[in-house]
Amino acid sequence: MEHRIAEIVGKENLLKDVPMSRYTTFRVGGNASYLVSVENEEILIALLKLLKENNLPYYLLGNGSNLLVSDQGYDGVMIRFVGDFSKIEWAEQTRQSAAWSDSVPDAGAAVMLTHMAQAAAEHGLAGMEFAYGIPGTVGGAIVMNAGAYGGEMCQIVESVRLLDEDLQIVTLKGDEMAFGYRTSILKRKPYVVLSVRIKLHPGDKKEIMAKMNTNMTARKEKQPLEYPSAGSTFKRPEGHFAGKLIQDAGLRGYRVGGAQVSEKHCGFVINTGNAAAADIYHLIRDVQSKVRETSGVTLEPEVIMLGKFN
Ligand SMILES: Cc1cc2nc3c(=O)[nH]c(=O)nc-3n(C[C@H](O)[C@H](O)[C@H](O)COP(=O)(O)OP(=O)(O)OC[C@H]3O[C@@H](n4cnc5c(N)ncnc54)[C@H](O)[C@@H]3O)c2cc1C
Repeated sequence: MEHRIAEIVGKENLLKDVPMSRYTTFRVGGNASYLVSVENEEILIALLKLLKENNLPYYLLGNGSNLLVSDQGYDGVMIRFVGDFSKIEWAEQTRQSAAWSDSVPDAGAAVMLTHMAQAAAEHGLAGMEFAYGIPGTVGGAIVMNAGAYGGEMCQIVESVRLLDEDLQIVTLKGDEMAFGYRTSILKRKPYVVLSVRIKLHPGDKKEIMAKMNTNMTARKEKQPLEYPSAGSTFKRPEGHFAGKLIQDAGLRGYRVGGAQVSEKHCGFVINTGNAAAADIYHLIRDVQSKVRETSGVTLEPEVIMLGKFN
């Protein structure tokens, strides 16, 4: 099977026994049996066809910034998007409404949000400032409906090109994506994001840049960016803030092994340097049960856990 994968993706794009600590922002996680870098849609479709026909498990990897992989690793094929998936193409579009720009970017799944926001700013397009500083890819951000500072992906998605379960390319409009708070249709359906058409509106380049810089400064001030993490560990429970509930439960700085509730921002679980994935997992479970005890609120992890933890 290995050589058939190599034939499809190219030998140089197939790695064996790869530590997931190198590919996730938590910097933890055991080995993936294979890590495959896929350069374009044709290769992706051929690879998925082979994996499906042979019942080989696979996982789609963005920037690994919302992912906790277990210490036992992942027994399957991790798929990374590179090459054409990292491109932004600027398409012309008939103006449908005076509010929206003529020029719309099509961002490949592997484009980093920060890079996309910068490119939009350089084109004098506003609407993506919120995403500047979120360390994920466009693909991962669609799955999660990533958001910050009052903005969310769902506000700027015109349409998404996807591969469906039969490996057919389909295009869904933003309002067909079932976006909700940190969720989308991709949480229910095993689709693959290929690219996203983003809708933005003309704005003043300097003002856009200033807004992005303000957001970045706020991140640096409030978030423990000096430590590996996956951002906010928990979703915001309705009517509460996860960080406040965790702080009120007396868990600021609480540790399990090398994992810690950040002293700077209780909503973040950080890797202080030598954490195992199991430390992070057990800390998350401890936080959930202590917060439940003290406030009655059940915190739901935003972080996706992959592999065996018990
Ligand atoms: C310091 C820090 C700050 C953060 N701040 C924010 C924030 O302000 N707001 C916010 O919402 N999040 C934030 N996050 C979390 C994270 O960056 C986002 O959830 C981001 O959208 C995840 O993107 P990713 O590319 O890293 O996806 P990954 O973590 O690699 O994957 C997430 C999910 O998407 C799936 N996926 C990835 N690519 C594809 C694809 N092409 N097709 C189908 N499925 C795919 C994966 O299988 C997985 O299920 C932060 C994280 C960190 C470390």
